[in-house]
Formats: sequence, structure tokens, C-alpha cells
Amino acid sequence: MLNSSILIEKNTMAEKQCSVCGQVLPIFEFRKYKNQSGSIGHRGSCRACEKEQNRERDQRKKAQLGINNILVEKKCSVCKQILPITEFRRYEHQSGVGYRGSCRECEKARERERRHQNKAQITNDNNIEDNYRFLKFYKKIKSGG
Ligand SMILES: [Zn+2]
Ligand SMILES: [Zn+2]
Repeated sequence: MLNSSILIEKNTMAEKQCSVCGQVLPIFEFRKYKNQSGSIGHRGSCRACEKEQNRERDQRKKAQLGINNILVEKKCSVCKQILPITEFRRYEHQSGVGYRGSCRECEKARERERRHQNKAQITNDNNIEDNYRFLKFYKKIKSGG
């Protein structure tokens, strides 16, 4: 009984091994939390790992909600490029949402070929510029995130 406060005091100075990265780190690298009985404990993973986990969880959640689809990539079955998912047209079916196998550009190209075989080149310049703007935007998000 007498020693319990000293023990706690000592504990706050101690080191702890992170259950995620396995590093032994000073206890202040672990976030404190209050458990149901009101006493203070430390989390099993260090701050850096928690941050990483939070970010992953966040991304997964956003991806599920479809908000952050921009971070998901898919390979186009036609041009074989790996492109952000927003470059693929979405369609809804009974079990959820799916994406087409070919990217918008390839689909557009196919439509264009089909419909205006002779005028295929007219809108090309605009498309290239739009694409370029989008890619710049996409890279910014990726590197900033
Ligand atoms: Zn860690
Ligand atoms: Zn494509």
C-alpha cells in the first residue's frame, strides 16, 4: 500500500516496448488513457505507431465511404496503366459499387472510335490538358497526405 504511489511514479519514468514496432521507448512516447476503474494506463503501441494506425484506419474508413477513392488505384485492362480510381467509371450493382475495367480515356477513345471515326482528333487537346491538371492535383494530394 505504502509503495503504490512510488511505484506509479516510477512507472511514469519507465520504458515500455511498443507492441507494434517492437522498439523499447520512454513511457512518454506512449499515450495515456484512463481505464474504466479510473486509473491511468499506457497504450500498447507508441505514438508514432498509433498515428500510423489511425491514418490507416482513417483511410480505410474513407475508402469504404467512397470519399477518398482518389487514393485507390486500378490497372486499366486496355492501356495497362495504373491510374487513380477516379479515372474509372463507377457503376452500381446489387452487391455494391464496381468500377469498369478500362479507364475513362480508353472508354472515351472507344466511344469516339465507334461514333466519330473521322473526327476522333478534335477534342484531343482539351482532354490532354484536363488530364494533366488532374494528375498534378492527384500528385499533390498523394505527396501531401
Ligand atoms: Zn511503435
Ligand atoms: Zn486505359
